[in-house]
Amino acid sequence: MIILVINAGSSSLKYQLYNMKEESVLAQGRVERIGMDSSIVTHEPEGKSEVRLVSEILDHNTAVKRVIDLLVHKEHGVLGSINEIKAVGHRVVHGGEIFKHSTLVTPDVKLEIRKLFDLAPLHNPPALMGIAAVDTNMAEVPQVVVFDTAFHQSMPQESFLYAIPMVLYRRHKIRRYGFHGTSHHYVSQQAAEFLGKPLESIKMVSCHIGNGASCTAIMDGKSFDTSMGLTPLEGLMMGTRSGDLDPAIVPFTMNKEDLTLSEVNSMLNKHSGMLAISGISSDMREITDAMQEGDKQAKLAFDMYTYRLRKYIGAYAAAMNGMDTLVFTAGVGENSVVLRKAVCDGLTFMGIELDETRNAERSKEARVISSDNSRVTVLVVPTNEELLIARDTYQIVQNRA
Ligand code: AMP
Repeated sequence: MIILVINAGSSSLKYQLYNMKEESVLAQGRVERIGMDSSIVTHEPEGKSEVRLVSEILDHNTAVKRVIDLLVHKEHGVLGSINEIKAVGHRVVHGGEIFKHSTLVTPDVKLEIRKLFDLAPLHNPPALMGIAAVDTNMAEVPQVVVFDTAFHQSMPQESFLYAIPMVLYRRHKIRRYGFHGTSHHYVSQQAAEFLGKPLESIKMVSCHIGNGASCTAIMDGKSFDTSMGLTPLEGLMMGTRSGDLDPAIVPFTMNKEDLTLSEVNSMLNKHSGMLAISGISSDMREITDAMQEGDKQAKLAFDMYTYRLRKYIGAYAAAMNGMDTLVFTAGVGENSVVLRKAVCDGLTFMGIELDETRNAERSKEARVISSDNSRVTVLVVPTNEELLIARDTYQIVQNRA
């Protein structure tokens, strides 16, 4: 079965076309600058050269149309006809408390996604535009939605509630939802498969450390706690996001700096984290390069970042009354040898022992980086959210048939 996976953002749309027989990628690409002048389409068909087109793409509908044209293109295409695509899977950021699993798109599902716009004003509207674009261009094709929050719906109340008046939860559903769920779910499954153990038998902390970063405690095969909250701002220090802070900082800063709420919100989301402390960049590569050249602010940013990550790992080990597996994934987690070393070297009390040679190896496969004596197995597992979306879509559409 051939499945198209779509990740629609406000001005971008990424896609991957899968052949589910071998779970191979037939083509992938992205449309950028939707609705702006000079939109860019980058299309990478498997076994053929990359294509880059610049044109006007005013909306998501036209973006999907352009993607379809490329997928069936005589020269750059990989399909004989659009009818070969049997299902489309969409990434949707927020599923609220309604969506605990991936699901087939129906008119009711679209309505529910719309109701969640309040909780994810930047992310859910473009996802719905992506669904509508597929409705228009491929009317007969079943669609599935996969939510970033769904995996964390298993969190118990003591993990997901804030200690604020309950009426706020009851009226507005103010609670912790957690994000990166598709990635945490995928890497936990991959880790269990790699270790040859049932996921239900593992107490795992998975660290998705990329531009955004979150940590999840996984017990009995389910998310038990996760570091992001109502929004992706809570938790670990990130590239440009502050992570945890005293909420009183918001009114205090507004008052002292004469800032509006939206300015403080933007400061915490876009001008904080590694970028703010290093004064250099939000990119871990640039931070570690500067640190190695002796830049003190870069070192401070790196130390704060790894310190906070260690605290979360320790807290989650305590929350689960133990842990036996630690997983690193995403851009920084998969690639930064120094970050993994800094984190693991501070957790020897838990029986974590890193093998420096294994840690320094580069590979695109899941691998162990702890020593054979380590009480906790430390793994690097490359994430693949698109593949999980394709798998869920495949399963749901198969079961429906
Ligand atoms: P992601 O959001 O998962 O795509 O991760 C993006 C981040 O990964 C970038 O901002 C970089 O900071 C980080 N990254 C990618 N490659 C490396 C590397 N070789 N070493 C350290 N960090 C890296």
